[in-house]
Amino acid sequence: MFSWGQFRRVVGTVTEVRTSVISQLQLRKIASDQLRYSSSMADKFKLPSRYGTGEKSVWVEYIQLAAEYKPAVNLGQGFPDYPPPGHVTKALAEIATGDNPLLNQYTRGFGHPRLVQNLSKVYSPLIGRELDPFNEILVTSGAYEALFSAILGHVDTGDEVIVIEPFFDCYDYMITSAGGVSKFIALKPKSNSDNMTSADWVLDEEELTSLFNEKTKMLILNTPHNPLGKVFTRAELEVIANLCKKHNVLCISDEVYEWMVYEPQKHIRIATLPGMWNRTITVGSAGKTFSVTGWKIGWAYAPANLMRNLQVVHQNCVYTCSTPIQEAVARSFEYELERYNTPECYFFSIARELMPKRDYLVKTLRENGFNPTIPEGGYFVVADWTNLADKIDLSSEPDKYKDYKFTKKFAKEAGVLTIPPTAFYSEAHKHLGENYARFCFIKKDENLQLTDKLLREWNAKK
Ligand code: PMP
Ligand code: GLN
Repeated sequence: MFSWGQFRRVVGTVTEVRTSVISQLQLRKIASDQLRYSSSMADKFKLPSRYGTGEKSVWVEYIQLAAEYKPAVNLGQGFPDYPPPGHVTKALAEIATGDNPLLNQYTRGFGHPRLVQNLSKVYSPLIGRELDPFNEILVTSGAYEALFSAILGHVDTGDEVIVIEPFFDCYDYMITSAGGVSKFIALKPKSNSDNMTSADWVLDEEELTSLFNEKTKMLILNTPHNPLGKVFTRAELEVIANLCKKHNVLCISDEVYEWMVYEPQKHIRIATLPGMWNRTITVGSAGKTFSVTGWKIGWAYAPANLMRNLQVVHQNCVYTCSTPIQEAVARSFEYELERYNTPECYFFSIARELMPKRDYLVKTLRENGFNPTIPEGGYFVVADWTNLADKIDLSSEPDKYKDYKFTKKFAKEAGVLTIPPTAFYSEAHKHLGENYARFCFIKKDENLQLTDKLLREWNAKK
């Protein structure tokens, strides 16, 4: 027989065992419920397939790297590191402290009236027709949103869009998210001489022709070009225009660098070519025009029937853009229109200001083992780094593409951050960009001089 004490101890142990068995069972159930729940959550709330794998954008990654590495000079993302024209920031300051309270409130959804009227004044003479400010222009949240509204507003499921590589990376994501299919064609260097300019990067006409078919809805052109700086010639634009007309295709012309064109090159708007106005949507950016990339105001202009689709996307997405910024951009245009025919006009002085910076950077790169392509427009230089390959050990960099490895290792060793151009190519063509790095030159002279010093020091150590 058990004593009372023994009985209590045995019952106690049994109870403990029972409790621990129960709690283990319960825990297991909770865990399996959680697993089921989280795998069904993961399934249900995964990224919609129209956004692909959700790969990190080069901008997200390299802006993070700039914060981490703190490079001595950041020639990566394209933005000036010096102040915009004084009248531009003064306009915004006056609006912020002025006595019109309505300039702090919503404005017209498709574009602040004073801005669209000024855009019409700027562009009408340039395209040789009177632009209707209220039906043929849309103000957007940066050129990004103009591209988004144009692509989402016109591309339908299964439509094909011709994209010229290297391309500003968001084009492809926007096309895919509209249900479209990108068809890529790469600009290729005619030779690999030591004196290449962006004019040497050309499209193969036969290859371009072969991409057009009955499914082709759109072609995206970018002139002046990011990252190569190519300014498409009239003859090159005519080839594109004739194919667009022959196959009844829309042309989105991304012209955000329209004022950064270096003598003797001239920027030609494809919308002005015969028969092209009716099928072209042109995109511009206040960020680029006035060196205020953080203001994020852009626009698109085209015939009213084409603009309607963009308005539909815009009105249900951002609906309207920042009023004080639009007002300041409008006043800035007025200021420049007043002095349009003088050399001081920023539309013309910016290229004069940038050309010596371009030449300085090109010289620095050449003298330090790179082979740069001299850009005819924009504010980037693409340079072949492979002559330096035996001076840099890339084995510690886990990236898939050589230009990612090079730009990261080079930023760590030399203190100069640049952008890997394979970000501007489709998967199948990434090898075409691996030998290059993109350098931005809209930077203070002292920072370009510092780049020169850093590159020399890096070379001397090798
Ligand atoms: N297109 C190109 C070719 C660009 O380089 C950029 C970068 N600014 C944009 C569009 C977007 O311009 P925004 O900053 O006005 O959105
Ligand atoms: N257009 C700029 C560039 O190419 C900025 C791009 C961005 O920040 N998304 O560097």
